[in-house]
Amino acid sequence: MTRAYIGLGSNLADPENQIRAALAELDNLAQTRRLRHSSLYRSPPLSGPGVPADQPDYLNAVAELDTGLGAPVLLRALQQLETTHQRQRGERWGPRTLDLDLLLYGDETIDLPQLTVPHPGLYERNFVLYPLAELWAGQTERLRIPGSGTLAELLADCPRGALEKLRECQ
Ligand code: ATP
Ligand code: CA
Ligand code: CA
Ligand code: CA
Repeated sequence: MTRAYIGLGSNLADPENQIRAALAELDNLAQTRRLRHSSLYRSPPLSGPGVPADQPDYLNAVAELDTGLGAPVLLRALQQLETTHQRQRGERWGPRTLDLDLLLYGDETIDLPQLTVPHPGLYERNFVLYPLAELWAGQTERLRIPGSGTLAELLADCPRGALEKLRECQ
């Protein structure tokens, strides 16, 4: 089994329910068990060149899994879940019902055409790092990010900004 972390995001069609349903669906994936998940967070959409403007805010969470699936198979399974949530593949970074990013897969570094792990956005995204930190608060062990350092080091360079912690997601 490999410990993996999934970033969940939604800003369309009742985001809280999208994420709640997806958390259950992650636990139902073959050879996979969901261990812990963060609270729900709200964040403004990414901004910058190429990012479609005027989108609703996002709800985000992070889930921790143990999985026997290989990383590319897990990615395919995540994409299938997005599809069952009627995700339309339009512009990159456009609004979506459900986004499932494979953030970390054990201590592996993966560089395939369709899959980069750690996820390239992980290092600087407050809506990924703060939920991860919530999961790791109070643990004696530290989360190491392959090819980088510890989660704490990344957090030190990542302002919380407009990220809001909302509530637990049951
Ligand atoms: P971002 O990747 O910056 O968060 P996004 O989530 O909007 O943006 P998508 O349109 O969901 O991007 O995915 C674009 C492509 O990213 C997918 O086709 C997938 O193959 C690729 N990809 C590469 N690495 C990963 C990963 N670790 N997790 C999920 N998708 C990945
Ligand atoms: Ca399960
Ligand atoms: Ca994403
Ligand atoms: Ca994605």
